[in-house]
Amino acid sequence: MTSDANILKVCTKESWQEQLQNAIRTPTDLAAAVGIALEDLPYSLAADRGFPLLVPRAFAARIERGNVADPLLRQILAAQDETRIVTGYSKDPLAETSLYAGTPGLLQKYTGRALLVVTGQCAINCRYCFRRDYPYADNAQSSAERLATIDRLLDDPSIGEIILSGGDPLLLPDEQIAAMARRIARHQRSVTLRIHTRLPMVIPERVTDSLIQALSERGLPSVMVLHSNHPNEIDAPTAHAIKSLREAGTTVLNQSVLLAGVNDKPEVLAHLSDRLFAAGALPYYIHMLDKVAGAAHFEVSEDSARRIMGELSGMRPGYLVPRLVIERPGAGSKQQLEPIYPSAR
Ligand code: SF4
Repeated sequence: MTSDANILKVCTKESWQEQLQNAIRTPTDLAAAVGIALEDLPYSLAADRGFPLLVPRAFAARIERGNVADPLLRQILAAQDETRIVTGYSKDPLAETSLYAGTPGLLQKYTGRALLVVTGQCAINCRYCFRRDYPYADNAQSSAERLATIDRLLDDPSIGEIILSGGDPLLLPDEQIAAMARRIARHQRSVTLRIHTRLPMVIPERVTDSLIQALSERGLPSVMVLHSNHPNEIDAPTAHAIKSLREAGTTVLNQSVLLAGVNDKPEVLAHLSDRLFAAGALPYYIHMLDKVAGAAHFEVSEDSARRIMGELSGMRPGYLVPRLVIERPGAGSKQQLEPIYPSAR
């Protein structure tokens, strides 16, 4: 299929499920979609075998044609750099396998919150993903088992927030999300439902009316934390999806990962904050890279990160400056890194 045909395809009204089915999975299709000769892409079959290339066409259409250094392309291309073995990078950088709470998919990392890994599926495979080697198959639950887990969490008065994570939780059918939302909304205590997702940036049509309805269930405080790293990820359909969630009463926040060659410049982060805010989302966190094997080429040093945030602080008001955080295995919470401000002239 030619790239023009790809763009046409994106413009037609495909359901989100069809878009997922038609996502790009081969380097040849990707090369055609982004207008770059296959031999000019720094693609690696070995990296692809370990963690398959997967990118929906709507996301690929936002990659600048002919630009090998495009920041969106860098996030999704199975690249030669991934095959380097780098000391300090491992398959489980946050030691999550030591946090299993005895129930498949349930992680209790932080006081007062419980995190459920509800699916191992994603709509896009992000090359920096710290769960790229996560043992999803050992942590699968049926919908009924998940509801039973939620019931147990609701009975625990120390839990104030249930977080759905993955994989991407928005790959569950709306009915399953609605069933969880109803359970939480109808409980006698007020418990927040938080969903971490990249899907609205990747296939904005995933924000369906029935999803919006599920999240605006009466009595349910709902929060959606988007995962967006670069302003080019936010186009008109994405902004529309975010606005629809906001208007229905869901709090929409964003978290990013600080990635070399993608968003490691204060101007880029300022632009991302502007686009998020215009759509109705606030920048919340920017994470230091979790040191997962294969992602070392995305690393930004702590000092550089703190300087970038110091510069960003001078460019935008505080509510548009996300907090720079690092997650260290075994720590009870994320740790904030203070910006280094440019010295006064
Ligand atoms: S969507 Fe999230 S969980 Fe899935 S590959 Fe990307 S970063 Fe990882």
